Amino acid sequence: MRIVLLGPPGAGKGTQARRLEEHLGLPIIATGDIFREHVSQDSELGREARSYMDNGELVPDDIVVRMVLDRLSQPDALNGFILDGFPRTVPQAQALENSLAEEGRPLSAALKFNIDDEVAVKRLANRWTCSNCRRIYNAEFKPPRTPGECDVCGGVLIRRDDDDEVTVRRRLDIYRKETEPLEFYFWERGLLREIDAEGSADDVEARTAEEISDLKEPSS
Ligand code: AMP
Repeated sequence: MRIVLLGPPGAGKGTQARRLEEHLGLPIIATGDIFREHVSQDSELGREARSYMDNGELVPDDIVVRMVLDRLSQPDALNGFILDGFPRTVPQAQALENSLAEEGRPLSAALKFNIDDEVAVKRLANRWTCSNCRRIYNAEFKPPRTPGECDVCGGVLIRRDDDDEVTVRRRLDIYRKETEPLEFYFWERGLLREIDAEGSADDVEARTAEEISDLKEPSS
């Protein structure tokens, strides 16, 4: 199964990606996480991406596309994958579609998580992420058992630099302008499936499972 996750920042894509990973046994390819890893290692790619990320802007398409196509050619992605945060522009989607078509492994679905902007802003303002395993907590809705510490791996919880309200609103604007057109793009191709992303993570997980219950196995 080859899945793309769409939806504005704060829609819960990261949380649902992790649940799908457990449920389907497929790797998550999360471009934001890959970039943050490069930034923390101060690699050349990290230095290129950093200024865009800090301002809540998109990293240029050619850089992202190169990185993702390379990742998709790794052995663990050959039987399927969950793409979180990519594609985010029409040229990115076209590059992905062309590459997968050449390899005869087209996408299975694009899952779009719908959420109101104000709910998204509130979620992100309270978001804490484990610096080790990337699990996501929310100070209001899903606090960790011990403040500042991941329940599962004990890692330190951190706030993302781009989760302040001004940057979040900019990210939402960019989403509307650059990424929302992808809904039509995937709809035209019969791949779009919309999911109500408000409510608890468990509720959204159940809706997602229902939405993809007819999809075929990865190898087909
Ligand atoms: P995310 O964790 O998905 O919210 O991504 C964090 C940041 O990484 C974004 O605000 C962008 O600066 C950058 N980024 C992640 N994915 C992409 C992408 N597909 N295209 C361009 N920039 C991206």
